[in-house]
Amino acid sequence: MFLHKIPKVARPPNVLVAPSHYRAHSFVAPRHKRVQETAEEPLPVPKALPPAKRLAISMCPILGCRVAQVQTLVTCMDARINPFSQLDISEGDAHIIRNAGGMAKDALRSLIISQRLLGTREIAVYHHTGCGMVTFRGSELKRLVKWADPDNISCAEQVDKIDFLEFNDLEESVKSDVNFLKESPLILKGTKITGWIHDIDTGEATRVI
Ligand SMILES: [Zn+2]
Repeated sequence: MFLHKIPKVARPPNVLVAPSHYRAHSFVAPRHKRVQETAEEPLPVPKALPPAKRLAISMCPILGCRVAQVQTLVTCMDARINPFSQLDISEGDAHIIRNAGGMAKDALRSLIISQRLLGTREIAVYHHTGCGMVTFRGSELKRLVKWADPDNISCAEQVDKIDFLEFNDLEESVKSDVNFLKESPLILKGTKITGWIHDIDTGEATRVI
């Protein structure tokens, strides 16, 4: 992830705007409606929005299941991972949650929203070979952050609270993340959760759990 050189493309900072069909679905009531709510009123029940504009019915050649059943993919932010082309997922087919390493703990907030508000019921943890998460220690990264701003006490305090979730064993990281989600009381019971490793060199994905 960190080792891969991202091509420099000149683009304005605000060019990444969600398509209009995504912006149309807002979880938050307009401000004037929220002000009118009182403690006695029942909590608003969010609409069970579909996870995407329409789930595909084709078979995913890599995950070996219907694309519609994948629904939510947790994967690394590594620029070499392209879920849409590598997993034959089309825009709108699935929620793609990305972070450094594709770590489940880091994705939990988005997973809760994906399940409770958008109706997804399946999660695929999708890590990859050559991941930068095995190349550093969290303690080293904290030292680096503090070194850059040594007099900033707030900076030091905040970075010390962060678990960077680095790992040594790729396969174990996938199994650990899948087990974490299966045991989490925040993930809906009955959710199908699988774990995969994507080989950066061959482009193949292997299910490990
Ligand atoms: Zn990675």
